[in-house]
Amino acid sequence: MPIYEYTCVTCSNRFDKRRSMSQMNDPASCPDCGSESRRVFSVFAAFSSDSSGQTSAVAGAGGCCGGGAGGACACAMSV
Ligand SMILES: [Zn+2]
Repeated sequence: MPIYEYTCVTCSNRFDKRRSMSQMNDPASCPDCGSESRRVFSVFAAFSSDSSGQTSAVAGAGGCCGGGAGGACACAMSV
């Protein structure tokens, strides 16, 4: 079962939860304050800027499938 990362909207606490893919977008309760938390899209938020000022996505570029053809990478679906 995959592990998803969440951050609390109230206290900004970050924690991991192990749950099925069908539950990955469900709200998770913060273990500290019990408030609603949102899933952190850490993979899709990975960007980098080179010296020329161009911003490119790190995820998918030379990743698990070498980027895949047209972004259709089966590995990205399971993250
Ligand atoms: Zn909290």
